[in-house]
Amino acid sequence: MLFTTKSLITLFPTTQGKVDEPIEIHEVNTDSRIDTSNSLFIPLVGENFDGHQFVMQALEQGAVAVLWEKERTLPSSIPNDFPVFFVEDTLDALQKLASYYREMVNPIVIGITGSNGKTTTKDLVASVVKSSFVTHYTNGNFNNHIGMPLTILSMERGTEVLILEMGMSGFGEIDLLSKIAKPDYAIITNIGESHIEFLGSREGIAKAKIEILNGLSKNGKVIIDGDESLLQLLHNKTNTITCGFGDANDLSIVECKVTAKETIFTLSDGETYKVPLFGKHHAKNASFAIAISDCLGIDVKKRQDALLSVQKTGMRFDLIKGMNGVTIINDAYNASPTSMKAAIEVVKEMEGFQEKVLVLGDVLELGDHAEYLHESVADVIESPITAVFTLGEYAKLITQSIERNNTIHSQHLTSKEELLEVLMPYMREDTLVLFKASRRLKFETLIQELIN
Ligand code: ATP
Ligand code: MG
Repeated sequence: MLFTTKSLITLFPTTQGKVDEPIEIHEVNTDSRIDTSNSLFIPLVGENFDGHQFVMQALEQGAVAVLWEKERTLPSSIPNDFPVFFVEDTLDALQKLASYYREMVNPIVIGITGSNGKTTTKDLVASVVKSSFVTHYTNGNFNNHIGMPLTILSMERGTEVLILEMGMSGFGEIDLLSKIAKPDYAIITNIGESHIEFLGSREGIAKAKIEILNGLSKNGKVIIDGDESLLQLLHNKTNTITCGFGDANDLSIVECKVTAKETIFTLSDGETYKVPLFGKHHAKNASFAIAISDCLGIDVKKRQDALLSVQKTGMRFDLIKGMNGVTIINDAYNASPTSMKAAIEVVKEMEGFQEKVLVLGDVLELGDHAEYLHESVADVIESPITAVFTLGEYAKLITQSIERNNTIHSQHLTSKEELLEVLMPYMREDTLVLFKASRRLKFETLIQELIN
């Protein structure tokens, strides 16, 4: 149980129906298509939908109370005794409720933001924290102004540590999320170029991420990418822990190797860790989880085991076997210029393949920066990469830039069908093929064709 209708009266005093009876609320729900039994139904209003239309459906499926925006007329079909809480704005009410419940359960809260690596870091942190505490964490990528409050509201009463991914596309968003979540630990994984369209520059992006400090609890700690100069203003503060490859960092990675099985790294204290993920950037993501383990007193053996057995969220650099034994890297979940370059670096590092092929698509939401950022991807494309295929209007610039600057075989295609055709000769056991593009290009549909 989360709370009772009675306990909500202080938060939402304008009511109708039997609200002062202690009716138990087990869940908060905003989607009437999902089982709403014993839930408080919150009708959100979006550009293309109005949840108020689905309140009756929620009731019929077992909702025990609803929120309702004051401005709207309550339908007469809602029974007079049914508990209704009237609010100005249901989204704001959802966020207030999350904040209230966060205070009530009062777990240790870890907030994670950054341009890239939030979900991976969340998975790594969750893995180590779960080894020692009752832990609740963001499911998938539920990281926005709706998903994060819902994540808070889906934790059990006895939760000891709550881990929240915080995403954003503009200024003020992390500020809001941080003030709701009040993190005790705030992690900034990195500063890249994602959402530069709305934030103007990398400095703007850094500023927007640093908003995570706005809700930080009084003795809270900030754990950051210590190699990023734009976060330098946070260095040398008593509550900052820096992680990264530079030897001045509090947690410094002194050695790092990427094999076809895992990434292995050693910290300056001599301890070695392995993660079943590929790329040096994951050593850094894991170092954030190690910093958290230090703060929460989780011993070294437990963290080593937990990092090795991390359950990661899908389509993020998943290695799969395809046609004729080819190795496919499914990194089709999403892309930014930084993460695309990072993925290419990893392909270059991976041992054991004769051919290394890149299949790259558009990176969206870059605004005026799109052209040069796509061209810049070509800067990291060099031997041992053997072939590059692109799809999409911006990705074409990658091929053009390669053609201008080096001799690696590169070809731009205009349809998925053509692309699949040129990939056929590469379906061989000694070949590694990376698929990477923005979510909207749905590159997983290509992969699907190549695994049968
Ligand atoms: P989103 O904004 O879509 O939620 P995210 O921040 O949660 O993304 P992940 O899903 O963890 O990020 O990873 C996305 C991509 O970024 C992956 O392709 C991964 O290889 C790359 N990546 C992960 N960590 C880093 C990092 N520290 N630096 C650069 N790239 C990274
Ligand atoms: Mg994410």
